[in-house]
Amino acid sequence: MMERRFLRVGWMFDGKGGPAQRGRLLSLEGGRIAAIEEDRAEARSDREPVVDLSRCTILPPLVDGHVHLFMSATCERERRVAQLSADYGQLLPAMTCHAESFLAHGVLAARDGGDQGGYALAFRTSAAMPPPLSLKVVGRGWHREGRYGRIIGRTPRAGETLAAAVAGEEQAVDQVKIVNSGFNSLKVFAQETKSQFDVEELFAAVRAAANCGRKVMVHANGREPVRNALLAGCHSIEHGFFMGRENLELMAGSATIWVPTACTMRAFLDNFGALGGEAQRSVIEATLHEQLEQLALARRLGVRVAIGTDAGSLGVHHGRSVAEEMRLFIEAGFSAGEAVAAATSVGARLLGLPGSGTLEKGGPATFLVVEGDASDLPRRLPQLHALYIDGRAVSLPPSISPATPAT
Ligand SMILES: [Zn+2]
Repeated sequence: MMERRFLRVGWMFDGKGGPAQRGRLLSLEGGRIAAIEEDRAEARSDREPVVDLSRCTILPPLVDGHVHLFMSATCERERRVAQLSADYGQLLPAMTCHAESFLAHGVLAARDGGDQGGYALAFRTSAAMPPPLSLKVVGRGWHREGRYGRIIGRTPRAGETLAAAVAGEEQAVDQVKIVNSGFNSLKVFAQETKSQFDVEELFAAVRAAANCGRKVMVHANGREPVRNALLAGCHSIEHGFFMGRENLELMAGSATIWVPTACTMRAFLDNFGALGGEAQRSVIEATLHEQLEQLALARRLGVRVAIGTDAGSLGVHHGRSVAEEMRLFIEAGFSAGEAVAAATSVGARLLGLPGSGTLEKGGPATFLVVEGDASDLPRRLPQLHALYIDGRAVSLPPSISPATPAT
Protein backbone atom coordinates (compact mmCIF):
# COMPACT_ATOMS: atom_id res chain seq x y z
CA MET A 1 0.00 0.00 0.00
CA MET A 2 1.26 3.44 -0.88
CA GLU A 3 2.23 5.63 2.04
CA ARG A 4 -0.10 8.54 2.66
CA ARG A 5 1.22 11.66 4.36
CA PHE A 6 -0.54 14.76 5.56
CA LEU A 7 0.46 18.39 5.51
CA ARG A 8 -1.19 21.23 7.38
CA VAL A 9 -0.66 24.46 5.46
CA GLY A 10 -1.57 27.93 6.66
CA TRP A 11 -2.31 29.42 3.23
CA MET A 12 -2.36 27.98 -0.27
CA PHE A 13 -2.27 29.74 -3.64
CA ASP A 14 -3.48 27.21 -6.21
CA GLY A 15 -2.00 29.17 -9.15
CA LYS A 16 -5.37 29.75 -10.82
CA GLY A 17 -5.58 33.46 -9.94
CA GLY A 18 -7.84 33.44 -6.89
CA PRO A 19 -6.92 34.58 -3.37
CA ALA A 20 -5.00 32.32 -0.98
CA GLN A 21 -7.08 29.58 0.63
CA ARG A 22 -6.74 29.65 4.41
CA GLY A 23 -5.98 26.53 6.51
CA ARG A 24 -5.74 23.51 4.23
CA LEU A 25 -4.97 19.88 4.96
CA LEU A 26 -3.23 18.16 2.04
CA SER A 27 -3.02 14.39 1.66
CA LEU A 28 -0.02 13.30 -0.39
CA GLU A 29 0.24 9.86 -1.92
CA GLY A 30 2.52 8.46 -4.59
CA GLY A 31 3.96 11.89 -5.29
CA ARG A 32 0.55 13.41 -5.98
CA ILE A 33 -2.00 15.45 -4.08
CA ALA A 34 -4.65 12.88 -3.18
CA ALA A 35 -6.93 15.38 -1.41
CA ILE A 36 -7.18 19.02 -0.32
CA GLU A 37 -9.62 19.77 2.49
CA GLU A 38 -10.31 22.25 5.21
CA ASP A 39 -7.85 21.91 8.09
CA ARG A 40 -10.08 20.92 11.04
CA ALA A 41 -9.05 19.11 14.21
CA GLU A 42 -11.51 16.26 13.46
CA ALA A 43 -10.00 15.83 10.01
CA ARG A 44 -6.54 15.54 11.53
CA SER A 45 -7.30 13.22 14.47
CA ASP A 46 -6.81 9.90 12.71
CA ARG A 47 -4.25 11.12 10.23
CA GLU A 48 -0.67 10.80 11.35
CA PRO A 49 1.98 11.80 10.72
CA VAL A 50 1.14 15.39 9.93
CA VAL A 51 3.80 17.86 8.77
CA ASP A 52 2.95 21.20 10.31
CA LEU A 53 3.28 24.10 7.86
CA SER A 54 0.48 26.07 9.44
CA ARG A 55 2.67 29.19 9.66
CA CYS A 56 3.58 28.92 5.99
CA THR A 57 2.15 29.63 2.55
CA ILE A 58 2.45 27.17 -0.30
CA LEU A 59 2.24 27.86 -4.03
CA PRO A 60 3.10 26.08 -7.29
CA PRO A 61 6.73 26.30 -8.42
CA LEU A 62 7.62 29.48 -10.28
CA VAL A 63 8.14 29.84 -14.03
CA ASP A 64 10.28 32.59 -15.55
CA GLY A 65 9.01 33.08 -19.08
CA HIS A 66 11.97 35.09 -20.38
CA VAL A 67 15.60 34.65 -19.33
CA HIS A 68 19.08 34.65 -20.86
CA LEU A 69 21.16 31.95 -19.24
CA PHE A 70 24.46 33.09 -20.77
CA MET A 71 24.43 36.65 -19.42
CA SER A 72 25.00 37.64 -15.79
CA ALA A 73 23.14 40.42 -14.05
CA THR A 74 26.46 41.96 -13.09
CA CYS A 75 26.93 45.73 -13.39
CA GLU A 76 30.63 45.34 -14.21
CA ARG A 77 30.86 46.63 -17.75
CA GLU A 78 34.02 44.66 -18.62
CA ARG A 79 32.45 41.40 -17.51
CA ARG A 80 29.28 42.07 -19.50
CA VAL A 81 31.28 42.89 -22.63
CA ALA A 82 33.44 39.78 -22.15
CA GLN A 83 30.38 37.55 -21.84
CA LEU A 84 29.08 38.76 -25.19
CA SER A 85 32.11 37.30 -26.99
CA ALA A 86 32.88 34.36 -24.69
CA ASP A 87 32.68 30.76 -25.87
CA TYR A 88 30.68 27.91 -24.33
CA GLY A 89 33.52 26.73 -22.08
CA GLN A 90 34.07 30.21 -20.73
CA LEU A 91 30.35 30.72 -20.09
CA LEU A 92 29.69 27.32 -18.51
CA PRO A 93 30.50 28.28 -14.88
CA ALA A 94 28.19 31.32 -15.04
CA MET A 95 25.39 29.36 -16.75
CA THR A 96 25.66 26.64 -14.09
CA CYS A 97 25.44 29.25 -11.36
CA HIS A 98 22.39 30.89 -13.00
CA ALA A 99 20.61 27.54 -13.38
CA GLU A 100 21.19 26.68 -9.72
CA SER A 101 20.06 30.14 -8.72
CA PHE A 102 16.70 29.45 -10.42
CA LEU A 103 16.23 26.36 -8.27
CA ALA A 104 17.34 28.10 -5.09
CA HIS A 105 14.55 30.63 -5.67
CA GLY A 106 11.87 28.10 -6.52
CA VAL A 107 11.98 28.70 -10.28
CA LEU A 108 11.64 25.18 -11.62
CA ALA A 109 11.04 26.16 -15.23
CA ALA A 110 12.39 28.91 -17.44
CA ARG A 111 12.32 29.82 -21.12
CA ASP A 112 15.58 31.08 -22.58
CA GLY A 113 15.18 33.95 -25.04
CA GLY A 114 18.31 33.17 -27.02
CA ASP A 115 22.01 33.82 -27.37
CA GLN A 116 24.29 34.09 -30.40
CA GLY A 117 26.04 30.76 -29.86
CA GLY A 118 23.12 28.51 -28.97
CA TYR A 119 24.77 28.12 -25.56
CA ALA A 120 21.59 27.57 -23.52
CA LEU A 121 20.61 24.88 -26.02
CA ALA A 122 23.95 23.11 -25.44
CA PHE A 123 23.77 23.63 -21.68
CA ARG A 124 20.40 21.94 -21.42
CA THR A 125 21.75 18.55 -22.43
CA SER A 126 25.05 18.93 -20.55
CA ALA A 127 25.99 17.29 -17.25
CA ALA A 128 25.84 20.74 -15.63
CA MET A 129 22.07 21.04 -16.12
CA PRO A 130 20.65 20.62 -12.61
CA PRO A 131 17.52 18.53 -12.18
CA PRO A 132 14.67 19.25 -11.69
CA LEU A 133 15.03 22.48 -13.68
CA SER A 134 13.07 22.48 -16.93
CA LEU A 135 14.63 24.79 -19.49
CA LYS A 136 12.86 25.63 -22.74
CA VAL A 137 15.16 27.07 -25.37
CA VAL A 138 14.98 28.97 -28.65
CA GLY A 139 18.67 28.47 -29.45
CA ARG A 140 19.44 31.55 -31.52
CA GLY A 141 16.82 34.14 -32.39
CA TRP A 142 16.19 35.58 -35.85
CA HIS A 143 16.57 39.23 -36.81
CA ARG A 144 16.80 41.17 -40.04
CA GLU A 145 20.24 41.99 -41.45
CA GLY A 146 21.43 45.35 -40.15
CA ARG A 147 18.81 45.52 -37.38
CA TYR A 148 18.89 44.92 -33.60
CA GLY A 149 19.26 41.34 -32.38
CA ARG A 150 22.85 40.22 -33.00
CA ILE A 151 23.59 39.52 -29.32
CA ILE A 152 20.82 36.95 -29.11
CA GLY A 153 20.66 35.58 -32.62
CA ARG A 154 21.42 35.62 -36.30
CA THR A 155 19.91 36.56 -39.66
CA PRO A 156 18.46 34.31 -42.36
CA ARG A 157 21.07 33.51 -45.02
CA ALA A 158 21.29 35.78 -48.09
CA GLY A 159 18.25 35.13 -50.28
CA GLU A 160 16.58 32.95 -47.64
CA THR A 161 13.14 33.95 -46.32
CA LEU A 162 12.43 34.15 -42.59
CA ALA A 163 10.01 31.22 -42.96
CA ALA A 164 12.65 29.06 -44.67
CA ALA A 165 15.12 29.91 -41.92
CA VAL A 166 12.57 29.00 -39.25
CA ALA A 167 11.74 25.73 -41.04
CA GLY A 168 15.42 24.79 -40.95
CA GLU A 169 15.76 25.41 -37.20
CA GLU A 170 17.86 22.95 -35.15
CA GLN A 171 15.94 19.85 -34.08
CA ALA A 172 16.39 20.33 -30.33
CA VAL A 173 14.91 23.83 -30.21
CA ASP A 174 11.58 24.14 -28.35
CA GLN A 175 10.32 27.51 -29.57
CA VAL A 176 11.28 30.08 -32.19
CA LYS A 177 12.40 33.61 -31.31
CA ILE A 178 11.96 36.47 -33.75
CA VAL A 179 13.24 39.96 -33.04
CA ASN A 180 10.80 42.38 -34.66
CA SER A 181 11.73 45.82 -33.33
CA GLY A 182 14.68 47.70 -31.92
CA PHE A 183 15.85 47.84 -28.34
CA ASN A 184 13.68 50.02 -26.11
CA SER A 185 15.44 53.42 -25.94
CA LEU A 186 16.74 54.62 -22.57
CA LYS A 187 17.43 58.08 -24.01
CA VAL A 188 14.29 59.04 -25.91
CA PHE A 189 10.89 58.40 -24.29
CA ALA A 190 8.48 56.27 -26.32
CA GLN A 191 10.78 56.10 -29.30
CA GLU A 192 9.40 53.58 -31.76
CA THR A 193 11.31 51.60 -34.37
CA LYS A 194 10.09 50.05 -37.62
CA SER A 195 8.89 46.48 -37.75
CA GLN A 196 11.80 44.27 -38.84
CA PHE A 197 9.46 41.95 -40.75
CA ASP A 198 6.05 42.57 -42.35
CA VAL A 199 2.86 40.65 -41.49
CA GLU A 200 3.22 38.26 -44.44
CA GLU A 201 6.79 37.34 -43.52
CA LEU A 202 5.83 36.81 -39.89
CA PHE A 203 2.69 34.86 -40.77
CA ALA A 204 4.71 32.49 -42.99
CA ALA A 205 7.29 32.10 -40.21
CA VAL A 206 4.63 31.29 -37.60
CA ARG A 207 3.17 28.69 -39.98
CA ALA A 208 6.62 27.19 -40.67
CA ALA A 209 7.22 26.93 -36.91
CA ALA A 210 3.81 25.34 -36.35
CA ASN A 211 4.63 22.71 -39.00
CA CYS A 212 7.55 21.74 -36.75
CA GLY A 213 5.37 21.86 -33.62
CA ARG A 214 6.89 25.06 -32.29
CA LYS A 215 5.49 28.25 -30.84
CA VAL A 216 6.90 31.66 -31.74
CA MET A 217 7.98 34.32 -29.24
CA VAL A 218 8.46 37.80 -30.66
CA HIS A 219 10.58 40.59 -29.22
CA ALA A 220 8.54 43.68 -30.08
CA ASN A 221 8.27 47.23 -28.75
CA GLY A 222 6.13 49.97 -30.24
CA ARG A 223 2.80 49.91 -32.07
CA GLU A 224 3.72 48.64 -35.54
CA PRO A 225 6.15 45.83 -34.56
CA VAL A 226 3.67 44.48 -31.98
CA ARG A 227 0.68 44.79 -34.30
CA ASN A 228 2.40 42.88 -37.10
CA ALA A 229 3.38 40.09 -34.70
CA LEU A 230 -0.15 39.84 -33.31
CA LEU A 231 -1.76 39.79 -36.76
CA ALA A 232 0.66 37.02 -37.74
CA GLY A 233 -0.59 34.90 -34.82
CA CYS A 234 2.58 34.77 -32.74
CA HIS A 235 2.25 33.05 -29.36
CA SER A 236 3.87 35.65 -27.14
CA ILE A 237 4.90 39.28 -27.24
CA GLU A 238 8.11 39.94 -25.34
CA HIS A 239 8.52 43.37 -23.69
CA GLY A 240 5.81 45.20 -25.64
CA PHE A 241 6.84 48.63 -24.37
CA PHE A 242 4.68 51.36 -25.91
CA MET A 243 2.50 48.91 -27.84
CA GLY A 244 -0.61 50.99 -27.06
CA ARG A 245 -4.26 50.30 -26.29
CA GLU A 246 -5.22 48.96 -29.72
CA ASN A 247 -2.67 46.19 -29.50
CA LEU A 248 -3.77 45.30 -25.98
CA GLU A 249 -7.37 45.09 -27.20
CA LEU A 250 -6.26 42.91 -30.09
CA MET A 251 -4.34 40.67 -27.69
CA ALA A 252 -7.30 40.38 -25.31
CA GLY A 253 -9.27 38.68 -28.06
CA SER A 254 -6.45 36.30 -28.97
CA ALA A 255 -4.49 33.44 -27.41
CA THR A 256 -1.28 35.48 -27.40
CA ILE A 257 0.44 35.91 -24.04
CA TRP A 258 2.22 39.14 -23.08
CA VAL A 259 5.54 39.01 -21.21
CA PRO A 260 6.16 42.65 -20.17
CA THR A 261 9.60 42.29 -18.46
CA ALA A 262 8.93 45.48 -16.45
CA CYS A 263 11.62 44.67 -13.87
CA THR A 264 14.32 45.45 -16.44
CA MET A 265 13.43 49.16 -16.11
CA ARG A 266 13.34 48.89 -12.30
CA ALA A 267 16.83 47.33 -12.40
CA PHE A 268 18.15 50.08 -14.70
CA LEU A 269 16.94 52.63 -12.16
CA ASP A 270 18.45 50.72 -9.22
CA ASN A 271 21.79 50.45 -11.04
CA PHE A 272 21.65 53.72 -12.94
CA GLY A 273 25.32 54.54 -12.39
CA ALA A 274 26.35 51.40 -14.27
CA LEU A 275 24.63 52.60 -17.46
CA GLY A 276 27.27 55.27 -17.96
CA GLY A 277 26.30 58.24 -20.10
CA GLU A 278 23.97 56.25 -22.30
CA ALA A 279 20.74 56.75 -20.44
CA GLN A 280 18.38 59.35 -18.98
CA ARG A 281 16.96 58.54 -15.56
CA SER A 282 13.74 60.44 -16.27
CA VAL A 283 13.18 58.44 -19.47
CA ILE A 284 13.57 55.11 -17.66
CA GLU A 285 11.24 56.27 -14.85
CA ALA A 286 8.61 57.33 -17.36
CA THR A 287 9.03 54.09 -19.33
CA LEU A 288 8.48 51.99 -16.21
CA HIS A 289 5.45 54.08 -15.29
CA GLU A 290 4.00 53.68 -18.78
CA GLN A 291 4.59 49.91 -18.74
CA LEU A 292 2.74 49.59 -15.42
CA GLU A 293 -0.15 51.60 -16.94
CA GLN A 294 -0.20 49.16 -19.87
CA LEU A 295 -0.20 46.27 -17.37
CA ALA A 296 -3.16 47.76 -15.53
CA LEU A 297 -5.04 48.11 -18.83
CA ALA A 298 -4.10 44.57 -19.87
CA ARG A 299 -5.57 43.28 -16.62
CA ARG A 300 -8.82 45.17 -17.16
CA LEU A 301 -9.10 43.93 -20.75
CA GLY A 302 -8.39 40.33 -19.77
CA VAL A 303 -5.08 39.93 -21.61
CA ARG A 304 -3.17 36.84 -20.52
CA VAL A 305 0.06 38.10 -18.96
CA ALA A 306 3.05 36.02 -17.82
CA ILE A 307 5.98 36.78 -15.58
CA GLY A 308 9.25 37.00 -17.50
CA THR A 309 12.22 38.89 -16.16
CA ASP A 310 14.81 39.07 -18.96
CA ALA A 311 17.24 37.74 -16.33
CA GLY A 312 20.78 38.51 -17.42
CA SER A 313 19.83 42.07 -18.32
CA LEU A 314 21.79 44.57 -16.22
CA GLY A 315 20.83 44.13 -12.54
CA VAL A 316 18.21 41.44 -13.27
CA HIS A 317 19.30 38.40 -11.24
CA HIS A 318 18.38 34.86 -12.24
CA GLY A 319 15.75 33.48 -9.90
CA ARG A 320 15.50 36.33 -7.46
CA SER A 321 14.01 38.80 -9.96
CA VAL A 322 10.79 36.79 -10.40
CA ALA A 323 9.62 38.15 -7.04
CA GLU A 324 10.49 41.69 -8.19
CA GLU A 325 8.44 41.30 -11.39
CA MET A 326 5.52 39.95 -9.33
CA ARG A 327 5.81 42.97 -7.06
CA LEU A 328 5.53 45.27 -10.07
CA PHE A 329 2.42 43.40 -11.27
CA ILE A 330 0.87 44.04 -7.86
CA GLU A 331 1.91 47.71 -8.06
CA ALA A 332 0.02 47.83 -11.39
CA GLY A 333 -3.15 46.54 -9.72
CA PHE A 334 -2.90 42.75 -9.90
CA SER A 335 -3.98 40.86 -6.77
CA ALA A 336 -1.40 38.60 -5.13
CA GLY A 337 -3.30 35.59 -6.48
CA GLU A 338 -3.24 37.02 -10.00
CA ALA A 339 0.50 37.73 -9.75
CA VAL A 340 1.07 34.14 -8.57
CA ALA A 341 -0.97 32.85 -11.53
CA ALA A 342 1.14 34.95 -13.93
CA ALA A 343 4.24 33.32 -12.43
CA THR A 344 2.85 29.78 -12.38
CA SER A 345 -0.11 28.58 -14.48
CA VAL A 346 0.20 31.22 -17.23
CA GLY A 347 3.95 30.61 -17.33
CA ALA A 348 3.41 26.85 -17.60
CA ARG A 349 1.08 27.45 -20.55
CA LEU A 350 3.63 29.79 -22.16
CA LEU A 351 6.33 27.12 -21.88
CA GLY A 352 4.05 24.27 -22.91
CA LEU A 353 4.24 22.35 -19.62
CA PRO A 354 0.93 20.51 -19.35
CA GLY A 355 -0.19 19.50 -15.87
CA SER A 356 1.99 21.99 -14.02
CA GLY A 357 1.52 25.49 -12.65
CA THR A 358 -1.43 24.70 -10.37
CA LEU A 359 -2.07 22.85 -7.11
CA GLU A 360 -5.09 20.59 -7.25
CA LYS A 361 -6.40 17.17 -6.35
CA GLY A 362 -4.76 14.55 -8.50
CA GLY A 363 -1.92 16.86 -9.58
CA PRO A 364 1.75 16.53 -8.68
CA ALA A 365 2.67 17.35 -5.07
CA THR A 366 5.30 19.82 -6.23
CA PHE A 367 5.23 23.20 -4.52
CA LEU A 368 7.15 25.92 -2.75
CA VAL A 369 6.84 26.62 0.97
CA VAL A 370 7.36 30.21 2.12
CA GLU A 371 7.27 31.26 5.76
CA GLY A 372 4.57 33.67 6.79
CA ASP A 373 1.03 34.37 5.68
CA ALA A 374 -0.21 35.00 2.16
CA SER A 375 0.26 38.76 2.49
CA ASP A 376 4.03 38.19 2.87
CA LEU A 377 4.20 37.25 -0.80
CA PRO A 378 6.05 38.08 -2.98
CA ARG A 379 8.36 39.84 -0.48
CA ARG A 380 9.36 36.61 1.23
CA LEU A 381 9.66 34.53 -1.91
CA PRO A 382 13.44 34.89 -2.15
CA GLN A 383 13.75 33.04 1.19
CA LEU A 384 12.22 29.66 0.52
CA HIS A 385 11.41 27.57 3.59
CA ALA A 386 11.19 24.35 1.60
CA LEU A 387 10.69 22.88 -1.84
CA TYR A 388 8.54 19.78 -2.30
CA ILE A 389 8.96 17.72 -5.42
CA ASP A 390 6.57 14.83 -6.03
CA GLY A 391 5.60 14.79 -2.37
CA ARG A 392 9.08 14.95 -0.87
CA ALA A 393 10.92 17.90 0.65
CA VAL A 394 14.17 18.27 -1.29
CA SER A 395 17.24 20.26 -0.39
CA LEU A 396 18.04 23.32 -2.42
CA PRO A 397 21.22 23.29 -4.54
CA PRO A 398 24.16 23.01 -2.09
CA SER A 399 26.35 25.50 -3.93
CA ILE A 400 23.83 28.25 -3.31
CA SER A 401 24.16 30.25 -0.16
CA PRO A 402 20.92 31.52 1.44
CA ALA A 403 19.26 34.07 -0.76
CA THR A 404 19.85 37.73 -0.13
CA PRO A 405 17.07 38.88 2.19
CA ALA A 406 14.45 40.96 0.46
CA THR A 407 13.99 44.46 1.72
ZN1 LIG B 1 15.51 39.00 -23.66
